[in-house]
Amino acid sequence: MGSIERPYDVLIIGAGLSGLCSLHHIRKRFPSWTVKVIEAGDSVGGTWYWNRYPGARFDSETISYQFSWDKELLQEWDWKETYAPQPETLRYIEHVCDKHNLRSDIQFNTTIKSARWFESDRTWTLEDETGNLYQARFFVSCLGVLSSPTLPAVPGIENFKGRLFHTSKWPKSFDISRDLAGKRIGVIGTGATGIQTITEVAKQSSIESLHVFQRTANWSAPLRNAEITLELMQSIKGRYDEIFKQCASTPSGFLHSADPRKSCEVTHEERLALWEKRYSEPGFGKWLGVFSDTYTDREANRLYSDFMAEKIRARVTDPRIAEQLIPKDHGFGLRRVPLESGYFEVYNDPKVHLVSLRETPFERATERGLVTSDGTEHQLDVLICATGFNAITGAFSDIEWHGRDNTPLISHDAHSKAVWASHRARTFLGIMAHSMPNMFMVLGPHQPFGNIPRSIEHAVEVVMQLLEHCEQNGYSYVEPTKEAVDEWTEHVVSCSEGALTNEVSSWLTGVNTNVEGKQERTVARYCGSAVEYRKRCQQCKLAGWKGLEFA
Ligand code: NAP
Repeated sequence: MGSIERPYDVLIIGAGLSGLCSLHHIRKRFPSWTVKVIEAGDSVGGTWYWNRYPGARFDSETISYQFSWDKELLQEWDWKETYAPQPETLRYIEHVCDKHNLRSDIQFNTTIKSARWFESDRTWTLEDETGNLYQARFFVSCLGVLSSPTLPAVPGIENFKGRLFHTSKWPKSFDISRDLAGKRIGVIGTGATGIQTITEVAKQSSIESLHVFQRTANWSAPLRNAEITLELMQSIKGRYDEIFKQCASTPSGFLHSADPRKSCEVTHEERLALWEKRYSEPGFGKWLGVFSDTYTDREANRLYSDFMAEKIRARVTDPRIAEQLIPKDHGFGLRRVPLESGYFEVYNDPKVHLVSLRETPFERATERGLVTSDGTEHQLDVLICATGFNAITGAFSDIEWHGRDNTPLISHDAHSKAVWASHRARTFLGIMAHSMPNMFMVLGPHQPFGNIPRSIEHAVEVVMQLLEHCEQNGYSYVEPTKEAVDEWTEHVVSCSEGALTNEVSSWLTGVNTNVEGKQERTVARYCGSAVEYRKRCQQCKLAGWKGLEFA
């Protein structure tokens, strides 16, 4: 065991948006407290630090996806595009850190491997991978929802002699125009990341070939990005209060909300008119701004899916490939809809080959590439895995937890005594877990994940209120009761009922075929409206933090 540092008042793990927002508010609200952020990467940004793959950019509106608490910065910062590319977002985050001198409280290149609660002095001790210990009274986990990448379980993949990387571990020095020239490239995965990567890689005229290995076809629709002129930026700056107010009024925290009419209440022509309008507009309106029953009524969802399928057919020259690209096992919008810029046209390029893993699954990997069940060896020089993440609970599983009475937090084993056995999260308000006193989660399971910074700012505010409550009353201990956790978890499950989204496997429903014990769907996020979620947090506070035990 390494040396132990002086005890901190608060330790935060993660220097992504959640960790930075937490650090800023702790400093502001508790100026005399000591606080430290521990971060695995060598700089700040979290998701926007790691995901530097080609084509990475927002597909939700940049102007609604930034911190709202620095009014001065809102007036200073000029966004350049409606949907900012990853480098611009990372520059923004770095600028926030520089402006508020946040780096001075962050320790980089440090991965926490275990977290242990000591009842004797009511502290957490975190241990990093080199054995150094860090102790604190309170601990805020800002681990990220999509931060534990998973590689595909293809037998023999370790034998592949070409370059292989996960999109979230994209090498900083890798230049696609230089390093992909003349190469045979494979991409596994057609989620939001795969769709952006494939579109960008296919644009490189110097590549020899691109094989896209698609297991589940994914719905996708045009992003329609545009430049933000200085004039437009000026007018946006005058409307920030209104913009954030609007985000606070919608179920997912985005600027879009559903049309209150039901699909069956209007004529075919009226339906088409709204769908065409949304389709021609930028952003998530085509997902979140359509008829109110689109994701609860099967027939409504089928009609909209048929509309979207026709759009794909119109863009792909080969009808056989178009049919492979149109999802047949789930309707439009029932998984998180990635927005694209020229994705479907990629398949009209003769150097791009779509391999349907539903028709010919992977059999094994060789030194040269990937073999599918029809015996074809797809020879590759570079294999890009856009294969997603052990989402929501995954980053928690990367840490060995010893909570109160040495209780583990999470296990894939259904019979374990872990609080979240078989990866099934049980929380109170998504902020705390039983047997894990003084540990708060920002973007933990059972929180709403729509517009991420909006969710982060709210979760950080709840954590600050709890810390203030402890400070003002001299409490050194806070933990939710088992009953409160059961009640909240039941509420979260009941919110998911009736939503077609929860009948489809994806990271949103806790499924990852590459992770042991994650084959079955769970309710891992708050599926009700973010407005209702915030109301319930506020009610809990007004009731004297009912459900929490303080000492
Ligand atoms: P994802 O949505 O989980 O997609 C992973 C893809 O890899 C899926 O197509 C999956 O197929 C495939 N896959 C996984 N394991 C496989 C295997 N063993 N064999 C074959 N295929 C396999 O992950 P993601 O694309 O990284 O996106 C995750 C989330 O990140 C998004 O939903 C979004 O919320 C966020 N994101 C946002 C942006 C943005 O704002 N612009 C960009 C990127 C990501 P199956 O579907 O069959 O499992």
